[in-house]
Amino acid sequence: MYLGCIADDFTGATDLANNLVRSGMRVVQTIGIPTEPPPADADAVVIALKTRTIVPDAAVAESLQAGRWLRANGARQVYFKVCSTFDSTDEGNIGPVTEALMDELGANFVPVCPAFPENQRTIFNGYLFVGNGLLSESSMRNHPLTPMHDPNLVRVMQRQCKRQVGLIDHRTVHAGSGAVKERIDLLRQSGTELAIVDATSDEDLLIMGRAFAGVQLLVAGSGVALGLPQNFGIAPSSQSSQLPAARGHKAIVSGSCSVASNEQVATFKARGYASFAIHPLRAAKGEDLVGACLEWAKSRLGNEPILIYATAEPQAVKETQAILGVQAAGELTEHILSSIAAGLVAQGVGQLVVAGGETSGACVKALGVTSMRIGPQIDPGVPWCHTGENTAAPQGLHIALKSGNFGTSDFFTKAFGVLA
Ligand code: ADP
Repeated sequence: MYLGCIADDFTGATDLANNLVRSGMRVVQTIGIPTEPPPADADAVVIALKTRTIVPDAAVAESLQAGRWLRANGARQVYFKVCSTFDSTDEGNIGPVTEALMDELGANFVPVCPAFPENQRTIFNGYLFVGNGLLSESSMRNHPLTPMHDPNLVRVMQRQCKRQVGLIDHRTVHAGSGAVKERIDLLRQSGTELAIVDATSDEDLLIMGRAFAGVQLLVAGSGVALGLPQNFGIAPSSQSSQLPAARGHKAIVSGSCSVASNEQVATFKARGYASFAIHPLRAAKGEDLVGACLEWAKSRLGNEPILIYATAEPQAVKETQAILGVQAAGELTEHILSSIAAGLVAQGVGQLVVAGGETSGACVKALGVTSMRIGPQIDPGVPWCHTGENTAAPQGLHIALKSGNFGTSDFFTKAFGVLA
């Protein structure tokens, strides 16, 4: 294993794994800290945690355990994956986790760069931009758990850290990886052990990738991953994304109510494919929607994909939430969809697309998935994966986990074409 990664949430882990595969690495993603050694041919392991918004002490403890596992299993470099909008509060968890990992790994300098220009996240003079506006002017200012009011990441990180935080600015990055390395040495000599790094283009990510070759620990979004495999002599190749041949029936389970998912559901239905709608209110009244859906699916599973969806427009979701409560509506829907996913796999589905971050978490749990090999990309941030054999699917399962707003409107049909 060259690269050991710790991701602070589930879909972020997949996003990172996808970028590493695009750059030529063979990648395994685990759900939580693994209990077994990694496969011998894995260049990188991405451990997906759910530590972004839990209390800092718990986030530190889990991340340290992950860091120890990665080091014990030979990781040459550790990558702490955080959100590209640097989701955190003054208490953490990015700063406390980073400093705990520095102590654990003996890292004396850590670059910090959540930028991903391809996805409109850029950093200039330490200020994070989302699209054309500052982070603090984006919808992140209203995030229920981690509202981001300060766009200056040097200040944001400094408030979370005991160590001094500096900046490697765009002029230095544009001057090349040699200049970045010199700047790292200067910062270290002046007692600065962490620095935010500017990036406004993918080229910047490749430059910093080269400059970070000898760094033990780095903190980044998924973008910096594009520049790291080159340091281990790895170049992009179609080999890295190879999965076992696809088998079994095809199905989509969608619990995302994002704009993109609503469009994807509408496009799939408009093309004449079979679909089954889940209405959480009917389930709340005691209707057995899981049983009804699996009965419906029995005669329809064949060559063509089928869709089961709770996806609804914002007004309908609000009405359901007003009656059941936000949390309860979400949990009930996740329970129904994940039970259906497990039932479909038992009926011979071997290729499964799940839409929705929370919905994906629930389905993966219901299916008993503990690790996945990362395969070819369907759309940016969404690869096909193949589960190990120790799941509800004895021969392994092809699964694609799509977080809300990802994917083009024809995603639900396009996805299966990628495996064909
Ligand atoms: P996204 O990635 O788009 O945020 P998630 O799966 O993370 O999607 O979140 C969507 C949430 O909405 C889930 O908790 C899901 O169970 C819930 N949900 C889905 N459909 C409905 C619906 N019709 N009414 C109420 N809640 C719903």
